[in-house]
Amino acid sequence: MKNSNVLLYLMLIGIVSGGFCGWIFGREMLVVDWIGEMFLNALKMLVIPLIVSSMIVGIAGLGDIRKVGRAGTNTIIYFLSTTGFSVLAGLLIVNIMNPGLGVELTTEIPDKVAGKEAVGITDILKSFVSPNLVNSMAEMDILPVIIFSLIFGGVLTTLGEKGRLVISVFDGINAAIMKIVHLVMCVAPLGVFALVASKLGAAGGGDMFLAELLKIGKFAATVITGLLFHAMVTLPAILYFVAKKNPLTYFKNMSQALTTALSTASSSATLPVTIECVEEENKISRRTTLFVIPLGATVNMDGTALYESIAAIFIAQMVGIHLGFGEQVLVFLTATLAAIGAAGIPEAGLVTMVIVLQAVGLPLEGIGMLLSIDWFLDRLRTSVNVWGDSIGAAVIDRLEKKYNGEGGTS
Ligand code: ASP
Repeated sequence: MKNSNVLLYLMLIGIVSGGFCGWIFGREMLVVDWIGEMFLNALKMLVIPLIVSSMIVGIAGLGDIRKVGRAGTNTIIYFLSTTGFSVLAGLLIVNIMNPGLGVELTTEIPDKVAGKEAVGITDILKSFVSPNLVNSMAEMDILPVIIFSLIFGGVLTTLGEKGRLVISVFDGINAAIMKIVHLVMCVAPLGVFALVASKLGAAGGGDMFLAELLKIGKFAATVITGLLFHAMVTLPAILYFVAKKNPLTYFKNMSQALTTALSTASSSATLPVTIECVEEENKISRRTTLFVIPLGATVNMDGTALYESIAAIFIAQMVGIHLGFGEQVLVFLTATLAAIGAAGIPEAGLVTMVIVLQAVGLPLEGIGMLLSIDWFLDRLRTSVNVWGDSIGAAVIDRLEKKYNGEGGTS
């Protein structure tokens, strides 16, 4: 059996047994919290060097500025259209299932979003540029780091021999970091076990979790239906028809990244594993992987956008505010933007949801209703986010190969 298959099966065993132990033993499983945290930190430690080197090598690998422009435009079109499809699916499903009708709003504005009322669309735009790059790196504020690396990589390609030298240094850094990713993944089964067991344990074990879930069970069911539809119908169709890949094989090859996303609830922390699965397991070209995946992990969040749109309508139904067509269009637009602005960290979507709610005048207190169960739904939407990114790489790679006359992929 291939090593990667063995690792995958061990990770699956880790997740299932972690869920089982957390469910049964509840808070006692907090004893393994430190193991999960160490695994998470080991992944996070690789993110900044990986993003900087990937973007530089990726942009240099794409070639001249016209090709970068073409790949960049296609990537943005893919990100926006798939995010749009997911919000649309969310809006349709929530309007059919009506999870908020008959539910009473009983919560206050949670601390997490208190004081964020003034967050607006211009704040998202402002976050693209950082006055202090080192600070952004230290705080894992990834978007400005990506923007800088893109510009830096682009400029290097215009410097001739000098530029090529620097690019090859970053290429070496990238290869070394990927080797470290392999090492970290050796302990992934234990890491995912500890993350899942301690999180479910912290939530009070299986009974408490079920009780919380059932409180807003219809909302959770609506979100899960939407996520499943997007992950199992829309995205595979794009993968099959545009990238000409077998969705089942592609999914199986992505499983290590998807299980990591499920246990970390962070697209950024999963990034090293996503790159590995896309490039090494699914054989997407290195230049496309290194360009599309870091960008996707930061701005392409289909699951988050879908979640935010469903949550907004859920809150509106709960407080008895009817949102007409125009307002739902506003939810569509702001949920797309809010997902772009959400960082790839746990529960970031909950904070950027403020933008959606404020756009249509809904009470922020509604977010409090989602809080107790958000840690769980977050894991599901993060996995969909990562799945969407990985399919984006296949689509862009296929298009690039077509333009360059390099023939088809499998
Ligand atoms: N946790 C998500 C991610 O990292 C973001 C969110 O929806 O909260 O992709």
